[in-house]
Amino acid sequence: MTKTFDAVIVGAGIVGAACAMEFARDGMNLAIVEKDEIGGGATAAAMGHVVVLAGSPAQLALTRYSQLLWQTMAGGLPREAEYARPGTLWIAADDEEMQEVRRKDRIYREHGIPCQVLEGPALARIEPALRGGLAGALEVVEDAVVLSQAAAQFFLQHALTARGTLYRETVTAMGSGKVLLSSGEELHAPVLVNAAGEWAAELTPELTILKRKGHLAMSGRFPAVVSHQLVELGYLKSAHSSTLDSVAFNVQPRSNGQLLIGSSRQYGVESREVDEDILGRMLRRATEYLPGLASVSIERTWTGFRAATPDKLPLIGPLAEDATVFAATGHEGLGITTSLATARLLADSIAGRRTAIPIEPYLPSRSIGEKRG
Ligand SMILES: Cc1cc2nc3c(=O)[nH]c(=O)nc-3n(C[C@H](O)[C@H](O)[C@H](O)COP(=O)(O)OP(=O)(O)OC[C@H]3O[C@@H](n4cnc5c(N)ncnc54)[C@H](O)[C@@H]3O)c2cc1C
Repeated sequence: MTKTFDAVIVGAGIVGAACAMEFARDGMNLAIVEKDEIGGGATAAAMGHVVVLAGSPAQLALTRYSQLLWQTMAGGLPREAEYARPGTLWIAADDEEMQEVRRKDRIYREHGIPCQVLEGPALARIEPALRGGLAGALEVVEDAVVLSQAAAQFFLQHALTARGTLYRETVTAMGSGKVLLSSGEELHAPVLVNAAGEWAAELTPELTILKRKGHLAMSGRFPAVVSHQLVELGYLKSAHSSTLDSVAFNVQPRSNGQLLIGSSRQYGVESREVDEDILGRMLRRATEYLPGLASVSIERTWTGFRAATPDKLPLIGPLAEDATVFAATGHEGLGITTSLATARLLADSIAGRRTAIPIEPYLPSRSIGEKRG
């Protein structure tokens, strides 16, 4: 059997779901195909930190644009999405890292991103659970947190209520205006979106996707108050490094007093099992910064895979080889943050509207090269 739509979206993680919501707003007749739970892939594994990063001008533009889109829709999100704006503290352990804090502060200010430098005593006053003797921090005021899977489910529901049909099936092939389902059914559309996350290259081999494993842990109730997302400045080095494994202190307070503890990064690993060695390193790192964690239980641990690209920017836009296939993947550790901007960029460019930021840096046809460092 064959059915025709304005667009078919493959994958209902947060990126596919956000695309569905945006396309539905444009009145498009949509099919969304998901083989598993809605938002059950990397989206369910994520920390949900909606964070501005300035690893490159294109990364800064996309993360900030998307963060502003999250702010615009925050009032309409359901309570289960637990959207909140605790801000981020980028923590400097010593004077050398404090110089990096000041450099980051200059860049953020140049781009109108509200932030302030805190010296050691001020940091100790606002986050007393941190170990003593830290040099200071950069507070990035508008960084937010969200329960990613709940947000994805809300976005998708929005699209289905408007004009979408959900297929709970596996896509076996896509291209040239056609999506083939495991049932044998064919869906036809002039726009096919590959939002299949870590699986995207199985359907579109032209896309280069590297799988980057991450671990997270949820603690029991922490005895002291933590009021910001706390991240060591070294996290940026670990996120950008190409070494096989790295861990960094990255902790998010949940509204019930538990702490979500990250984070690790590993290339070249296929197993989804928790790696006790990496988990142990990650928890020890967290305890170095928050000594109180030593006496708190760990209630749950899990892993997920980030879909990464060699140049650390996502793939957003049509393929050079097949203009019916649009990529919306490769967001690495920023797909929750940048889901809304990805969807808006695609919707605007498909509708022929001017995009709010240039889409060129993210086009799959850009020259990506092999750099990973
Ligand atoms: C440990 C960890 C922590 C993270 N923390 C953060 C964070 O704090 N902030 C942030 O911004 N990002 C974070 N991320 C990154 C973020 O989770 C991802 O970038 C984002 O979830 C990607 O969403 P997605 O929709 O592209 O992929 P996914 O959520 O993986 O969705 C892809 C979907 O496609 C479906 N699919 C695949 N193949 C097929 C097929 N053939 N047929 C039908 N359906 C198919 C899958 O079942 C899946 O549901 C983190 C990631 C990890 C692993």
